[in-house]
Amino acid sequence: MTIQWFPGHMAKARREVAEKLKLVDLVLEIVDARLPISSRNPMLDNLIQQKPRIVLLNKADLADPVQTNLWQAYFKKQGHACLNINANQGKGIKLISTAAKELLAEKIERQRLKGMKPRPLRAMCIGIPNVGKSTLLNRLANKNMARTGNTPGVTKGQQWLKSGKDFELLDTPGILWPKFEDQIIGKKLALTGAIKDTLLHMDDLALFGIEFFKEFYPEQLANRYGLSEEELGFSTVEILLLITKKRGFQDDFERGSQMIVQEIRDGRLGQYTLDHVSDYQEESE
Ligand code: GDP
Repeated sequence: MTIQWFPGHMAKARREVAEKLKLVDLVLEIVDARLPISSRNPMLDNLIQQKPRIVLLNKADLADPVQTNLWQAYFKKQGHACLNINANQGKGIKLISTAAKELLAEKIERQRLKGMKPRPLRAMCIGIPNVGKSTLLNRLANKNMARTGNTPGVTKGQQWLKSGKDFELLDTPGILWPKFEDQIIGKKLALTGAIKDTLLHMDDLALFGIEFFKEFYPEQLANRYGLSEEELGFSTVEILLLITKKRGFQDDFERGSQMIVQEIRDGRLGQYTLDHVSDYQEESE
């Protein structure tokens, strides 16, 4: 899937999400734990306004756990609930409905005091492509797909996935595109595999990855490719050449680059986080 920043495209996605938002009590915003800011759509705040939100840091298995904890604190400070999850393995998924109940505790209590019959909490997932929305919905669904199209106020044919007895999820996620405010965001998204390779040259991406690991996770880079301390001090380009050679690709840097990028995406160099909380802290102050 090629992701581009078409205004028309964006407007349509925005309308669709706005429509679905009317049906739910809360939003599950799924981001990639390796890049919680770069993998979210900046328009979302404006779109969902005061609607309660749980930020799900997905693919936590691939992210640096120290940073993931800091990101949790960051989002909680912004007034959202926040959980790390691994949708692939179903880790952390069970906590979602509990967190939703906590988040909406006051509303539930108000309704109870008014004598209203408790009804399941309804949520929708929103996120950019490839962040794990379908994986999460499949995990949550099990065999509990329930068609509730004839419920008043619910779009005809709308399906809800039951997760436990008092939590339901809209079966189609809201898809928003990432915003390429600058090249770095585009590179980060490409390095994690969130956007298609063709947008960027592989060697540029590999160099970006090597530079990043060299600065923040040098041991992981050295361990994976058997680099000595001296070699770690080489320029980024020299390191790319060296790794290409070490892997037996001779002078085929395109292949070398491809391999490095793929290994970073797959977590072969270990866990890492591209968006560091300290670079965004001021925004939350
Ligand atoms: P969607 O476009 O948001 O619906 O994303 P998908 O659910 O199709 O997931 C995109 C890719 O990410 C798939 O290859 C999933 O297997 C993978 N994925 C989803 N969740 C996780 C996770 O928690 N950890 C890891 N390592 N991969 C995940």
